[in-house]
Amino acid sequence: MHTHSTFSDGVTTIEHNLEVAARLGLEGLGITDHDTTEPFALAVEVAGRLGLDVLLGTELSAEEHGVSVHVLGYGVDPDDAALAAELERLRDERGHRARAMVAKLEALGVPVRFERVEALAGDAPIGRPHVAAAVVEAGAAGSLQEVFDRYLADGGPAFVPKHALPPEAAVALVVAAGGVSVLAHPGLHGARDGREGIPVELIERLVGAGLAGLEVDHPDHTPAQRRRYAEVADRLGLLVTGGSDHHGSGTRDRIGAATTPREVVAALRGRCRHRG
Ligand code: AMP
Ligand code: ZN
Ligand code: FE
Ligand code: FE
Repeated sequence: MHTHSTFSDGVTTIEHNLEVAARLGLEGLGITDHDTTEPFALAVEVAGRLGLDVLLGTELSAEEHGVSVHVLGYGVDPDDAALAAELERLRDERGHRARAMVAKLEALGVPVRFERVEALAGDAPIGRPHVAAAVVEAGAAGSLQEVFDRYLADGGPAFVPKHALPPEAAVALVVAAGGVSVLAHPGLHGARDGREGIPVELIERLVGAGLAGLEVDHPDHTPAQRRRYAEVADRLGLLVTGGSDHHGSGTRDRIGAATTPREVVAALRGRCRHRG
């Protein structure tokens, strides 16, 4: 229910991701590249060939008080004008931001060229992993993780915040585009900044904006976070999803590391107005 590919900052292709899902015996796969609906057509074609179900979506970047809030939008109409315009703006701003991070790295004495970052991203929206890959390529660090730990992690010396939507606006945009929204990995972002994860008060406001689900089962959530957010979902009447957030950058595929029952997928689909 949550995978990235070379259409955004994942290192594996849509074909690869779907083939792995089929090999694992999964019934379907969620396609959720950051800030883009570009993989939809290809995903439908490949999944059809493999006899897999696909849930088409995108992971929107939102933010509040410096804390990243990621909103998964499933079943959106890729031709919705407001959504398409906002996605384009988010991608555009990513380019400016990557340039600013490269400038900061250069000022810190790290030899990295923006042209390489662009080349590594290809047509995908540029993300920090692309910047990190260019640093590794330049020989200034041994691994992507080292680049994050030394420079690019949230609040790090070369970090530049991403242009992002207010969280309620991201949820509303998904709903207006005929889709259904799920809050991704609520335990992660706030927590990385030394906070407690996404505050419950914000989740309550998102429910008011139309939020339908909470990604409780995520490989990077601790057992305590899972318990906490499962309780929140239960209290607020939110559907509980699981997603691997596969990027392909580790030593193994994460596809299938977290799954979602088919009843929940059906319930999410039932809340989509767009039938595509
Ligand atoms: P961006 O959308 O450009 O802010 O990049 C976000 C991506 O960077 C995430 O999906 C992760 O793959 C990666 N990332 C962010 N923070 C870290 C971190 N502290 N360590 C490793 N990878 C990270
Ligand atoms: Zn990502
Ligand atoms: Fe995310
Ligand atoms: Fe993700």
